Amino acid sequence: MTITLTRMPTEARSPRMEPLARLPVFLALAGRRALVAGGTAAAAWKAELLAAAGAAVEVYAPEPGEELAALAGDAPGGSVVIHRRAWSTSDFTGAAIAVAACDSDHEAARFTAAARAAGVPVNVIDRPAFCDFAFGAIVNRSPLVIGISTDGAAPVFGQAIRAKLEALIPRGFACWAEAARRWRAELKSSGLSFNGRRRFWQHFTALAIQHPGRVPERADYERLLAGTAAKGDSVDTGSVTLVGAGPGDPELLTLRAVRALQSADVILFDDLVSPAILEFARREAKKMLVGKTGHGPSCKQDEINRLMVTFAKAGRRVVRLKGGDPMIFGRGDEEITACRRAGVAVEVVPGITAAQGAASRLKLSLTHRDAARRLQYVTGHASNGGLPDDLDWRSLADPNATTAIYMPMRTFGEFSAQAILAGLDPAMPAAAVCAATRPQESVITGTVASLPERLASADLHGPVLVLIGRTLADAASPQNDDIAAIR
Ligand code: SAH
Repeated sequence: MTITLTRMPTEARSPRMEPLARLPVFLALAGRRALVAGGTAAAAWKAELLAAAGAAVEVYAPEPGEELAALAGDAPGGSVVIHRRAWSTSDFTGAAIAVAACDSDHEAARFTAAARAAGVPVNVIDRPAFCDFAFGAIVNRSPLVIGISTDGAAPVFGQAIRAKLEALIPRGFACWAEAARRWRAELKSSGLSFNGRRRFWQHFTALAIQHPGRVPERADYERLLAGTAAKGDSVDTGSVTLVGAGPGDPELLTLRAVRALQSADVILFDDLVSPAILEFARREAKKMLVGKTGHGPSCKQDEINRLMVTFAKAGRRVVRLKGGDPMIFGRGDEEITACRRAGVAVEVVPGITAAQGAASRLKLSLTHRDAARRLQYVTGHASNGGLPDDLDWRSLADPNATTAIYMPMRTFGEFSAQAILAGLDPAMPAAAVCAATRPQESVITGTVASLPERLASADLHGPVLVLIGRTLADAASPQNDDIAAIR
């Protein structure tokens, strides 16, 4: 059977990486020669850092300070040997890294030139012009290590971020990461397939996050392994998760949405989903634009359902990523039914719907004890592209309701006329919010009677939502200076 599409699902290439001020690399220094020049406390601290990373540190200092002397007898790892003389060119031979504390630019230039001539990456403490690399701030949960750099822009800021991460990353993760290292090879020879091993590590991670303070034991390994193997190891059972991407600002994603994005193999997303949100997905995930914005070409719903089910049946974790909330004007019901029919496990992660996003930006309470007893969401778009002919005009004319109209662009003129005919006060305040919570967000205010014309003549880029009701009276006033473009 051939299915004719109005629009083919297109696979979106992962966007190119944003420019990167520094490339974080994690040097393996165990047993490698590290050269440190200078006898100051700063030189001693760098020698300690290098020794902690397992390096064989050779310090060249005619007059080593007391910190260095103390360190030589008590290195945290690796070794520290002090040579009571100045460095010379031949000292760089075989070094993996070179660090110096220098008193002048002249001395720094000499050291850097010698290091580079020997092909050794070099750092001169507090003299960035003479450095090939910088030491970032560190959060140490070895073997888990986090490095932080601001490219020299703001070291204090970097330190503050380090402090935050210190608080956020449990100390016990060190033990879990160490256990992972111990178990890795054993798991590989356990007979579990690639998918099975991946599942093992997912369960492992969940357990670590749940019990960060507990030291993982042999019994944990056995239990995790048995649990993974018991689930059957042929093909991973795939699944579909309908995920609400919210109105656009990635900060409005739920934690669960982020987690779903990070573990998805395939992401089928709508035009409405902003690119900043796709950044949260695993880079390796297959990302497919399946359209469906209401206007313009879109994939047939059947084709989307078929894709979802096919990927899930092949063992993939599919995220169906939809703007706002998947259960509000998102045909979530049809996708859930398709999954159920195909026997595919389906879950839903709610999202912040456009009306909520817009209300937050206008600082608008959608209900009000006197002015709005009821809140109603309606669509301005029927499947034939026109205004739905089964709207309940009595409710829409209710002066005590706030109405949010989704997909209003083509039909709002007709909507306004019909609502006024049904008794809605033509002076009822109304606002159109375009691209709510996104950088290009803008608002057009007016009344039910005046808004259609304003909307028609506006140059809007992005999805538009119309809100009507007495609660709108001062929501979009000029004092509301959070939205750049209120017209
Ligand atoms: N499921 C979505 C709605 C999909 S229907 C939700 O819960 O938000 C598509 C309509 O949603 C658009 O035509 C527009 O009316 C509205 N919409 C979605 N995102 C929006 C945004 N950021 N700003 C304004 N309107 C938006």
